[in-house]
Amino acid sequence: MFCLVAILSSVFGQKTITIGIFTDNQYCNCAVTGVRNYPASLAKLDSVIRFFNNSKVDAIFHLGDMIDNNFSSYDSVIPCYRKSAIPVNFVLGNHDYAVRENQKEKILPLLGLSSGYYQKIVGNWEFIVLNGDDLSFFGPQDKIQKQEINSLLTELMSGLRKNFMPWNGGISQFQMNWFKAQLREAQQAGRNVIVICHFPVYPLSSYNLWNDRELISLLTRYSCIKAYFNGHYHPGNYGFYKGIHFVNFSGMVNTTESAYALVTLTSDSILIKGFGREPDRRLKIGQGE
Ligand SMILES: [Zn+2]
Repeated sequence: MFCLVAILSSVFGQKTITIGIFTDNQYCNCAVTGVRNYPASLAKLDSVIRFFNNSKVDAIFHLGDMIDNNFSSYDSVIPCYRKSAIPVNFVLGNHDYAVRENQKEKILPLLGLSSGYYQKIVGNWEFIVLNGDDLSFFGPQDKIQKQEINSLLTELMSGLRKNFMPWNGGISQFQMNWFKAQLREAQQAGRNVIVICHFPVYPLSSYNLWNDRELISLLTRYSCIKAYFNGHYHPGNYGFYKGIHFVNFSGMVNTTESAYALVTLTSDSILIKGFGREPDRRLKIGQGE
């Protein structure tokens, strides 16, 4: 009977999958500052990679800010990621570009990426990764991106919006068009989608992506989107809006205690098993917590 269920599930692409999630380990060779324990990050990183290897996860996503600053910090963290049995999918965070201007072009190749935004399909689930550094004060910017930043920030400032902050970023119109095309394709193919970005868009906060409103109005037009995962705000957060679960995973760098999660995706649920400071969540697809 179990065998029949497994066969039917795989035929219809409903295989249960498990992914490993961690974020904001934000390593640097710096002293502990407030709640941020930078030196402890390396041991936490080493142990989470060993844990994911033993858990035989189907995919791993790091939601951004793998370093705090200084290009040489990558020399310490990259060897930890190389111990992973499967490649880690990196999401770009604001601190990942906290390096000298002439070192910024080295970041994508270093992380094995040809673009900061991409998609990955596992079973019947599609993970669409967005690059929130696309419009920002840290990521590399061309003339068109700079113009888009100006108009976006003028709008945020005049609306006295909370997320008008230099540590946030935004999605360019070019990337937005790519994202819309991915969503149309996923919806037509009948796949479930989880959107992943370093920056939150919901609930409203001073950590949100600059074009959070534009993104939310787009997300809520696609019934294939079941959740939005992000980091950036280290204490973590959760919201539910128009059928979408918005999960802000806790930042690993805070305190001596780690934070990471195993996320199991079934045909009707998103089950988050949190470790350390990350809470457990049993999320029914399409229903609030
Ligand atoms: Zn961040």
